[in-house]
Order: sequence, then C-alpha cells, then structure tokens
Amino acid sequence: MFYLFLTKRFRFSGLVSLLITNIIVLIVLSAINFLASTALAEITRVEDIRIGLRDNSTRFVIDLNKKVSPNIFGLEDPYRIVIDLPQVEFFIPQNREKISGGHIKGLRYGFFTPGNGRLVIDLRGPIKVKNNFMIPPQDSKKWRLVFDFISTTREEFIETMGPRQRHIRDEYSHSKNLRKKINKRLPVIAIDAGHGGVDPGAIGVSGVNEKNLVLDYVKELDRQLRATNRIKTVLIRDDDTFVSLRNRMAKARGMNADLFLSLHANAHKDNTVRGFSAYTLSEKASDVEAQQLANKENKSDVIGGLNLGPYSDEVQNILIDFAQAKTNELSIIFARDILLKEASKSIILLKRPWRSAGFTVLKAPDVPSILIELGYITNKEEKNLLNNSEYKRKLCAVMKRAILKYFDLHFSKIKTP
Ligand SMILES: [Zn+2]
Repeated sequence: MFYLFLTKRFRFSGLVSLLITNIIVLIVLSAINFLASTALAEITRVEDIRIGLRDNSTRFVIDLNKKVSPNIFGLEDPYRIVIDLPQVEFFIPQNREKISGGHIKGLRYGFFTPGNGRLVIDLRGPIKVKNNFMIPPQDSKKWRLVFDFISTTREEFIETMGPRQRHIRDEYSHSKNLRKKINKRLPVIAIDAGHGGVDPGAIGVSGVNEKNLVLDYVKELDRQLRATNRIKTVLIRDDDTFVSLRNRMAKARGMNADLFLSLHANAHKDNTVRGFSAYTLSEKASDVEAQQLANKENKSDVIGGLNLGPYSDEVQNILIDFAQAKTNELSIIFARDILLKEASKSIILLKRPWRSAGFTVLKAPDVPSILIELGYITNKEEKNLLNNSEYKRKLCAVMKRAILKYFDLHFSKIKTP
C-alpha cells in the first residue's frame, strides 16, 4: 500500500526509479518503526481477518492486539455489514481483501475519519448476527473478535441490523454504562495555550507577555465550551508552566482529542500590522513570514532545552506526508472554511488570514490541528483590544461557534459505505 502510494507520487524511469523507490521504501520503513514505537504505541492493530464455514453459518474473525468496542450495522441494496473500529490501524495481509465464502462475497476496509477504521463486508443476501463476542488471547493467539452470520429475511435484516447502529455484546465486560458512554461520546477538544514557564513567547507593547494573554483566552474559551454541555475540553496547560511542543501534541492524542487548537499572539516589527489569523501544517511554508513564525514558535523546544527529535526532517516529512493527508484536510476545513469565515463577520482579520507552515505543535498525524494567532500584541490598538474582557468574550464566542459548527459537520458523521 505504501509502495503504491509512493510510486504514484514519484514518477521516475528505469534504474533510477528502482533505486529511488528502494531508498524511499527504506526511509518509510524506518519511519513506520518510529511511528510504531511512539505515536502508534497505544493504537489498536487489526492484524488479520479470517472466514470459517460451518453447517449453515459463516464465522467472521478479526485478529487484534487489543480489545476493542466496535459498532456494527447493516445496509441493504446491496446487502452489507459495516463494522466500525475506533482508533485502529490496519496491518492485514494484502490478499485478505479478496476473501469470500459462505454469506460473504467480499471485503473492503479503510478509514472513515482519521484513526477510525471501517470494515465493509459485502454479503450474498440478508443475514442475521447469531453470535458476536470477543475471545481474549490464548496460547499464541491474539484477541479475536468473532461474528457468526446466518441467513434471514430481508425484513428481519432491516429490522435487526439497521439503520440504527448496534453495539456489540462484549462477553468480558458487561458494563452497560460504559458502552452507553462510548456510544454517546462527546467530541473532545484539546486547547493549548502557547508558550509558558521559561518561555514567554512574544513580548508586546508595554511588556505584555504572549504566554499570559493566551492562557486567559484558553480559560475563557474553556468556560464557554463547557457551558454548552456538548463538548469535552482538555487544557494542555492551565497555569504558567513550560510544556514541550511534542508533549502538547502527545497530551492531546493521549486524551483522544478530536481537534487540537493552539492559541498564540503574534508580534511584528511593523507596529501597524494587526489582525486575527489561523495556521495549518504544511511541509512548505505558504510564505516567508509564515515560515519565520513557524521557526519562532518551534524554538520553544530549544528554549526548554529539549531535543527536537532523533529523525531528520526528510524522514519526518515523508512520514507526515502520507499519515497526515486526511487530517490536514480537516484542519484546513476548520481553519479556512469555518473559523475564518465565522471570524470575518465581527473580527478584523490579517491579510491572507489562512496560512500554512511547518509548526511542530501541529504535527499529530491523526488529530486535526490548528494554530491560531489571536492578534498582534505589537500593535497598540490590538493589544488593548486583546486585553479587554469584553473583546475576549466576543473572540472566544467566535471560536466556540466555529468549533460547534465543525463538530456538527464532521463528528460521528457516518458516510454511506
Ligand atoms: Zn506563540
């Protein structure tokens, strides 16, 4: 899969092509090792899929390294079963997509939101799930998620399998409450106040510190979001402490954040420059100024005396390139199409308010991440506005509306497989 992706992107000819492809595959393999040992350590691996035939039932087995809480539902015309698995990666041998037998005609799998896997089983006719359960590891076997399908009528298929989602019975944890919680999970947003502790961030007019200003905004935004009862918030820091950029990202991922916002305030040598702006991740900066800002923000880890990571930019970029394409699409939708549109109604925006650059803090491969520059504290008027509590409430309300709108559109939206 990776090989195909890479050859599509890099078209060369003959030996050169072979050599370059080999080098890239090597880089990607070491990158995957890196991912497996760090970022993906807590993610569930789907390792194999098998079909077993019995008298009149078909057993469908998914091998996993961990227990999961899948959702299963059916769709008719044509008949298919959808199994959604939260926070998974697929490590299935390639020929498994061709498996069929009994009630099963074929199989497809992929991601329907970043990190959330979906298996679609194409059926030969309407079925009923006679049994479904998880078997814990035994001998050399891993966790197994088992379904037994038997034939049924169209009416019963529609009634029992869809359109509502059904949650699997888990033989090893009978906590109904837990299952309810998973079904009705609120979207999680991680809000990051930039800088902190030894790192003051930008210094503005009359000595105002970016780190203190953005913490005030994070607390106000948190208050407004909680009041909606529709979103769970996680604050990366809620006091004046230093957190490394990679730990900010790791904390967001650890809390299963669905969206990550990092709040900042900007500085410019030209004190007339002002306005609100939003940044998304890019390998290449959209302009010199965006790259300078990225360099400045990324220095935070150097200030904290931390190693920026053992891997070269080249490896990281290739890694990011394929793991991040989908996530980045969502980040751009939030920044450009929702947040800035909402902000433009009542807030002064920077010229070209959506920009992109290589911000370390935005590099979580599976969490849409946006860096927001609230305004320029080197512009006297804007600094005064940012310090004004009424403006703070107004600007946080803009961000809140954008966040709610984003989750309305992009959270738990089940696309027809
Ligand atoms: Zn900053």
